[in-house]
Amino acid sequence: MTDAITFATPYDDSNIFAKILRGEIPSISVFENDDCLAFMDIMPQREGHTLVIPKRPAVTFLDIEPDSLANLIKHTQIVARAVQKAMNADGFSIVQLNGSKGGQTVPHIHFHILPGSILNAGAHGAIPSDPEHLAKVAEKIRNAF
Ligand code: 5GP
Repeated sequence: MTDAITFATPYDDSNIFAKILRGEIPSISVFENDDCLAFMDIMPQREGHTLVIPKRPAVTFLDIEPDSLANLIKHTQIVARAVQKAMNADGFSIVQLNGSKGGQTVPHIHFHILPGSILNAGAHGAIPSDPEHLAKVAEKIRNAF
C-alpha cells in the first residue's frame, strides 16, 4: 500500500539539494543527523531563513512516505525552536511548496522556516545573501539548540 504513494513523482537526483546531500556543492548547515539536514537558504526571504530536508529522496508532500514526513516535521520543529530562539523572533512561518505550479523551485521536499511572517517577507529565491553574513547567522542558530 505504502509503495503506491512513494515516489509518485519521478525524482531527479541532479537537483541542487541532492547535490548538497552528496557534498557536491557546499551548504551552511545548522543541524544534521541520519535522517535530515538543515541549512541556510542562500536567498533568504528573511534573516534566519532556514531549510529542512530529508536525506531520503522525495519530490513533494504527496510523494514522501508518511513516516518520513512525520520525522521531517519533527525535525522541522526542533530546528524552528533554535531559529526562533537565535533570531529572537516574535513569530515565525513554516512554508512548504509543491510542484512548479505551487511555487516549488527545487524538486526535493523541504520545509522553509522564516522568522516573522511569510506574508510580508522578501521575494522568493531572488536575492543572494553574503555567505559570510549567512555563516554568522548559522552560528547563532547552531548555538541555540
Ligand atoms: P522552493 O521554491 O523549492 O520552495 O524553495 C527552494 C529554496 O531553495 C529557495 O528559497 C531558494 O532560495 C533556495 N535555494 C536555491 N538554490 C539554493 C542553493 O544552492 N543553496 C541553498 N542553500 N539554497 C538554495
